[in-house]
Amino acid sequence: MKYLILIGDGMGDFPVAELGGKTPLEAAKTPMMDELCAKGEFFLTKTVPDGFPPGSDVANMSLLGYDPAAYYTGRAPLEAAAMNIRLAPDETAFRCNLVTLDHGAGDRVTMRDFCAGHIGNDEAHALIADLEKECATDQFHFKPGVSYRHLVIFKGEHPGFVTVPPHDHIEQDVTVHWQQYLAQPAWQKLLDCARRVLADHPVNLARISAGKNPASLIWLWGEGKMPSVPTLTARFGIRGSMISAVDLLKGLGVVGGLSVIDVPGATGYIDTNYEGKAQGAVDSLKDGNFVFVHLEAPDEAGHQGSVDAKITAIEDFDSRIVRPIVHHLRQTGEEFRVVVTMDHFTPIALRTHVSDPVPTLLYDSREQKAGSGRTFDEKSCREHDAACGNGLDAGHRLIDKLLIHD
Ligand SMILES: [Zn+2]
Repeated sequence: MKYLILIGDGMGDFPVAELGGKTPLEAAKTPMMDELCAKGEFFLTKTVPDGFPPGSDVANMSLLGYDPAAYYTGRAPLEAAAMNIRLAPDETAFRCNLVTLDHGAGDRVTMRDFCAGHIGNDEAHALIADLEKECATDQFHFKPGVSYRHLVIFKGEHPGFVTVPPHDHIEQDVTVHWQQYLAQPAWQKLLDCARRVLADHPVNLARISAGKNPASLIWLWGEGKMPSVPTLTARFGIRGSMISAVDLLKGLGVVGGLSVIDVPGATGYIDTNYEGKAQGAVDSLKDGNFVFVHLEAPDEAGHQGSVDAKITAIEDFDSRIVRPIVHHLRQTGEEFRVVVTMDHFTPIALRTHVSDPVPTLLYDSREQKAGSGRTFDEKSCREHDAACGNGLDAGHRLIDKLLIHD
């Protein structure tokens, strides 16, 4: 038996007026997911436990079978794991976004862009290299990641301030949060240095003259120490792979003991290598019996507030990831069980995550039920879930539902 979990990050949404009250998932043409949904089980899964923020880290940790209440220590240490950075016990990893901050009158600071215009890797790496050269100390080191997503490794006592994700504060006044860092001398020194290095950096000057948002500053958040996590092999006897463009997911794969497959051209955006991801999943199942495939693009479209991009990303997920994988497994006659779901909603109207339970389908290739006619979307799932009351309140149990223990 092969087991698959296929995730369209942030696919869920609320009704959108310009779609005549449909959600992007309802409006998108998703024949493969609809078929699996009609023939399989369909239920709501609570991926974000009460008291946790609706982050991709928490939600995907649940989907991978780990209770965030027991194992979650922060997003950044997972990203560190993906980058093969081993944190010492006295070290804390912080996510370091390259952001565009506007400094206004009276020290007011506004988050213009949480990702500095989705800055490219080469540009970002030049900036991070210079930040490390100019601003690193015994306490702080910069580690380059992908696009706007990097890390700062901090050695010492956490100052106790509360950090916030920059994508939750787009176009908002973030002065209060900014001043928390500045209240700590060592952190103020780091940020002053970063501001100076970035202000007239050739990369930023070129971006500004091209009409793009510069990486005017860094934003530190999502910090934590390395979690201690038993592998999925130890817990369930499965051997498998993680396929994602995003370091956070790769890190979850590393701590879960999965092989992390690097797919060339996997970008995390709508231009990602869909076919490469599907092929990677199919190839990995030749040796292993479990694969987790994650597509970031619908979430990015949600953060951008782009209905068209979100629909395209969802349709591509269906036709270029879910369908080729399912078709391949059917052709080879391999028995399989597959979950298709999302980690959380990223509603177009809010441009950030919410923790509503997520529509989830579970299909078993051995079932030969006639289709129920229901479709894979939020409304259909709510109606179905209300009818049979089989929602899953603890998202980390989804993996128990997927795996057959014999
Ligand atoms: Zn997510």
